[in-house]
Amino acid sequence: MAGSFDVVVVGAGIVGAACAYACARRGLTVVVLERAGLVAGATGSGEGNLLVSDKLPGPELELALFSNGLWRRWAAELGDRYGDIELEAKGGLVVTGVGPGADGAAGLAGLRETARAQSAAGVLVELLDPAGVREREPAITPELAGGLYYPQDMQLMPAKATAALLAAARDHGAEVRLRTEVTGMLRDDGRVVGVRTGAGPVAAGHVVNAAGAWAGKLAGLAGADTPVAPRRGFILVTEPVPPLVRHKVYSADYLANVASGDAGLQTSTVVEGTPAGTILIGATRELVDFDRRHNAEAVRRMAQGAVRLFPALAAVRAMRVYHGFRPFSPDHLPVIGTDPRIPGLVHAHGHEGAGIGLAPATAHLVAQVLTGERPDLPLEPFDPARFSSEVETAGAAA
Ligand SMILES: Cc1cc2nc3c(=O)[nH]c(=O)nc-3n(C[C@H](O)[C@H](O)[C@H](O)COP(=O)(O)OP(=O)(O)OC[C@H]3O[C@@H](n4cnc5c(N)ncnc54)[C@H](O)[C@@H]3O)c2cc1C
Repeated sequence: MAGSFDVVVVGAGIVGAACAYACARRGLTVVVLERAGLVAGATGSGEGNLLVSDKLPGPELELALFSNGLWRRWAAELGDRYGDIELEAKGGLVVTGVGPGADGAAGLAGLRETARAQSAAGVLVELLDPAGVREREPAITPELAGGLYYPQDMQLMPAKATAALLAAARDHGAEVRLRTEVTGMLRDDGRVVGVRTGAGPVAAGHVVNAAGAWAGKLAGLAGADTPVAPRRGFILVTEPVPPLVRHKVYSADYLANVASGDAGLQTSTVVEGTPAGTILIGATRELVDFDRRHNAEAVRRMAQGAVRLFPALAAVRAMRVYHGFRPFSPDHLPVIGTDPRIPGLVHAHGHEGAGIGLAPATAHLVAQVLTGERPDLPLEPFDPARFSSEVETAGAAA
């Protein structure tokens, strides 16, 4: 047996790294098992936005607000000991009525309603007229109806944050084993008591499923039905330019795309700068399984939308395009907590396009569950068994 731990975390994306950090600093013995290298999954594709602006009142917004505070605390705790995670509290800007022909009045009415609801739920939000928007973003098109400003929205560099969390977890005694694929679960009288890997079995009190878009497959090894699916997204990256975009800026239809479960191509305009000077342009969403082929139409629409929002981008060259697979959950809520069907199995996945933002709160709740503390947020909305009450029987040692 290759060791025995309180917790095996499967997956070294941002959620697995955050779980390892939150558990190890509470004194649990932790090993992270990752079949590839660091940030081999969606985390390596994420823009790194930590948003409250794109969530309506409900459990996900509560998780986001909680995470927002934790990211600030964790960034201070990590300091610069593990490298700069590039946390920028730069704020977000949602705009409406962009371009000729857009229905600005309807867009503004929608934004007002969103702001009213979010504000009642604790989000800081400010309604801006076109002059107010241009004061915050001088290079934005003058052809818009108005916008909302969200001072709590932040951004960080996901790969650096993941590496920093894993390094800090190691300092608290955690082990990280890369190129170690989990291929089965160890079972004892129905309880998950560890995992099988190519390098031998690893015993553990609990197995945390942080396998991102592959979480359904991993849960299946334990006989748990978890309908998490990959939702593909492309990002267009420009050459580095002098500061042009100050905030995370996106069009209001992004909110509808995030909330939709439509399998077809959905695009909305999302633009933001990075400390390196590149500009990241998104966003697309498609349920096409793990299809890694290029989609020229998706990229064309993103580029057009970005130029409509920031006309100066027409003269900026695109440097590369990449894609990733968001872990999509059918009801748009993550899957967090112990599996009531399978003792020993704990879930931490299904965050779709918000896993970087929601990682700290998820990890905090997982650590609270594993140490027997009362969770700071209700876990019922994230119940792993909410999609199905059926448990397929897995072999005693699958
Ligand atoms: C284009 C794009 C932009 C995005 N932008 C943002 C953003 O701005 N803000 C935000 O919050 N979110 C964003 N997201 C979403 C975010 O990237 C994800 O929600 C988040 O990264 C999920 O992290 P994770 O750790 O759960 O999964 P992943 O990062 O996918 O990690 C899962 C890991 O598990 C490993 N694994 C799987 N199966 C096994 C196994 N059997 N054994 C061992 N290891 C295994 C995989 O190799 C992988 O490394 C974006 C996503 C995309 C695609």
